[in-house]
Amino acid sequence: MSTAGPPATLDPYAIREDFPILSTVLHGDKPLVFLDNAASTQHPRQVIGALTEMYEKHYANVHRGIHWLSEQSTDLYEQTREKVRAFINAAMTEEIIFTPGTTASINTIARSWGDAHLTPGDEILLSVMEHHSNLVPWQQLAERQGAVLRHLPITDDGHLVLDQLDELLTERTKLVSLTSISNVLGTVNPIREITRRAHDAGALVLIDAAQHAPHLPLDVAELGCDFLAFSGHKMLGPSGVGVLYGRAEILDALPPFLGGGSMINSVQLDRFTPADLPAKFEAGTPPIAPAIALGAAIDYLNNLGLEAVHQHEVQLTRYAHDLLEGIAGVQILGPRAEEKAGIVTFVLEGIHAHDVAHLLDRQGVAVRAGHHCTQPLHDRLGVTATSRASFYLYNTLAEIDQLGDAILHAQHVFRRR
Ligand code: PMP
Repeated sequence: MSTAGPPATLDPYAIREDFPILSTVLHGDKPLVFLDNAASTQHPRQVIGALTEMYEKHYANVHRGIHWLSEQSTDLYEQTREKVRAFINAAMTEEIIFTPGTTASINTIARSWGDAHLTPGDEILLSVMEHHSNLVPWQQLAERQGAVLRHLPITDDGHLVLDQLDELLTERTKLVSLTSISNVLGTVNPIREITRRAHDAGALVLIDAAQHAPHLPLDVAELGCDFLAFSGHKMLGPSGVGVLYGRAEILDALPPFLGGGSMINSVQLDRFTPADLPAKFEAGTPPIAPAIALGAAIDYLNNLGLEAVHQHEVQLTRYAHDLLEGIAGVQILGPRAEEKAGIVTFVLEGIHAHDVAHLLDRQGVAVRAGHHCTQPLHDRLGVTATSRASFYLYNTLAEIDQLGDAILHAQHVFRRR
């Protein structure tokens, strides 16, 4: 029996003290209400401080020099790899590859694994709710290799149709690549069950955890997935760094994707031998300082506890649903509040999403409008554009009230026209 008690509750007001940008006042007198966290999150002083300290005291290229600064830089960079390993409970640091972000991580697998393993007629199973980053690399791969793409459909309320999984998993399915949490609907997908069923069918599994890693605990050992991708900038870290996790025995057998410095053991004029993991997949100078600052972001999240972060977001999401459902003309897309992460995507009757975002911005409220890099999902839902409010650990219930007020104001402005 677990002796752990309930997760500590977060105090978003205390947390906000760590985030200088959150005290911004815009358009004269409007306090910034930042609800665009699914696109990118803000940075606490601890992360900004780690970046500054790196550049002021420790910076040099890694794995190259034998001088003092390079050793410091290399040590910090490799210590961060260990932090990431522990954060997702990978078996070894060799399984952690630093990349520029989720998109680069997925493309690495599409190029390295896909080009080496797919033959014409092989199938890749995706879903209708995927981000373009988990669609286009596979479309490009399918074009190169003659592979076939299949897509798990969704229900009208934004759940994957699992009943069709067995039918879609055929003996030709080589890979299932799925988002763990939808960046539009907020749906938390049953990735553990899907991974198990995909493995039973003989397919490998890649999880797009871009919206998961910042918000919920991740455990690749428990999940059993073969590859996993996420981005630093969605979890308090800087832009320019992300992670590709891959099971060591699979990554070990793959050819490198990008060629250049660092990823080799030796080079002759007409050939090379690749380096061991993880260097094999880190060609060129990596995102040194951003990676180290991502380590500071992980420390920050670990300090709060991701379970507590999640509970806080559940509370915000419930509150936002209750509030928005009480406003006539607001339609929320996706599952009920209880079934999703901190993302509330909505349509305002008679007002285009871009106008909504613009009018909300005039009230200081930052949301995202458009198709959020999920055009096929929007096609499926029968809408061209939506507005998305997405929450994080520093958001407050009062800010959701401000979102509600800003929506009422937008409706008022449109009624007057
Ligand atoms: N997948 C999902 C689910 C996302 O939300 C995003 C970012 N919006 C990405 C992939 C791409 O991440 P990045 O732009 O950091 O590569």
